[in-house]
Amino acid sequence: MIQSHLLPPLGFLIGNQWIAREGNGLPVHNPATGELLAVVPDGGAAAATQAVEAATADINRLTVPQRSELLRGIAARLLQEKDEYARLITLEQGKPLPEAAVEVEYAAGFFTYFSQHLEQLEPRPLPTRVRNLPWTVLHQPAGVAALITPWNFPLAMLAKKLSAALGAGCGVVIKPAELTPLSAMALAETVRQLGGPVNLVTGQPGPIGHVFCEHPLVRVISFTGSTATGRILLQQSAPFIKRLALELGGNAPFIVFGSADLPAAADALIANKFRCAGQTCVCANRIYVERAVEAEFLDQVCRRVAALRVGNGMEPGIDLGPLINRKAWQKVQDHIHDALKKGATRAWGSDPPAPEHDWGCFHPPQVLQGCTETMRVFQEETFGPVVAVSSFDAEDEVIQRANASPYGLSGYVFSADLGQATRVARSLQCGHVGINTGTGPAPEAPFGGMKQSGIGREGGDEGLSEFLETQSLAGT
Ligand code: NAP
Repeated sequence: MIQSHLLPPLGFLIGNQWIAREGNGLPVHNPATGELLAVVPDGGAAAATQAVEAATADINRLTVPQRSELLRGIAARLLQEKDEYARLITLEQGKPLPEAAVEVEYAAGFFTYFSQHLEQLEPRPLPTRVRNLPWTVLHQPAGVAALITPWNFPLAMLAKKLSAALGAGCGVVIKPAELTPLSAMALAETVRQLGGPVNLVTGQPGPIGHVFCEHPLVRVISFTGSTATGRILLQQSAPFIKRLALELGGNAPFIVFGSADLPAAADALIANKFRCAGQTCVCANRIYVERAVEAEFLDQVCRRVAALRVGNGMEPGIDLGPLINRKAWQKVQDHIHDALKKGATRAWGSDPPAPEHDWGCFHPPQVLQGCTETMRVFQEETFGPVVAVSSFDAEDEVIQRANASPYGLSGYVFSADLGQATRVARSLQCGHVGINTGTGPAPEAPFGGMKQSGIGREGGDEGLSEFLETQSLAGT
């Protein structure tokens, strides 16, 4: 079992106290080795209801300066404990330790950002009298916010929501992913130790999700995860008219024009695609390369892919950890074989042996060429280490193909012609576009999806707004 000075007693955090629960729990395994790390309690509707009710007492509990100080303190503690947080992330999620350390820094960045950007909470007098009266616009905390997070970035995806929700003055209930609850529990304990108001429940998602969707005290559901689950939350909460911020799946186009700096584009692709073994919402999924440079670009990519090392993320020199479980491994295999059957060819890679357990699901990187929109690798997010390449001939054609997806989270454009790169970037129906860079979101910039990739934004002023209600006062 895992030992860490960051971890609280493994129970529910309700009303500022960790409450241990006996009985059946949910095991948490190391996805690289299968080691049992912990068993966390299965809270169900009862614990979720208790947590929601406790969280109402937290709304507006801290003044704005106290919130800034709290957020600053959380960021400092994360950085101070970076190595131990990174160890927790790697043990429960599998990504290489240096990547986990970057995730901790990224998470801390959100707390730092919101500690310095709560100006929106100042009352704003309208500059002119209206109907011969003074008017003031207020931003109030929206109420209790339920935060639901996925397993791929167990600390950072929570940090994005929690920093904004605490900054806004909301009461908060966290439900981390079943597979990776430990980093979230450590973060909740850090917040608690610093005097911050936070509640957390673990357990099967269905009953907890129902409480979040139906309980009248929950006013915001901030969710990061699959589009399928986002749809369920929308449906379940529709009768109760909740505010939902949904950060959902992607299917990112990565477009390389003939004029691009091909080695730089290949470096960017490798960094973007293979982070977290390809299990990121922003990673390139459909790689479009202008036909004249396709062979050269593929050569650049394959040479880099050949150097990648797959293994246990706790070991030095590892570039790709395991996939999260056998289902994820099988999906990657299904995508590859669907593409091969429909005419794609392998430019790099071969089939690994099938995993024998739900852990140790290592998958080496693959490069496929000749991919088309009829293949699953182009229709769905693969969420694994597969570079799926297709060639194109014209700018209009590639914009049309890139936008012909129900998803619109992130996209990337590489061209030496900045006019072209900017024109194409602005035409892409994606919430985030990198121009000659494969970089993803940052705390300072609003990030979120268009179309079925989501509703709302995280980071920047827009990220705080998701947790605020606006009130106008006439006469004062
Ligand atoms: P998921 O299966 O949708 O799960 C996400 C979270 O929702 C988990 O905590 C899960 O709990 C919970 N959940 C599942 N069913 C629920 C229900 N009926 N009611 C309430 N909660 C429920 O997604 P995932 O597989 O963990 O994450 C991968 C997906 O997240 C990918 O599609 C990826 O693109 C997306 N993602 C998007 C962003 C973004 O910023 N847009 C960032 C990261 C990931 P359990 O763990 O207990 O099942």
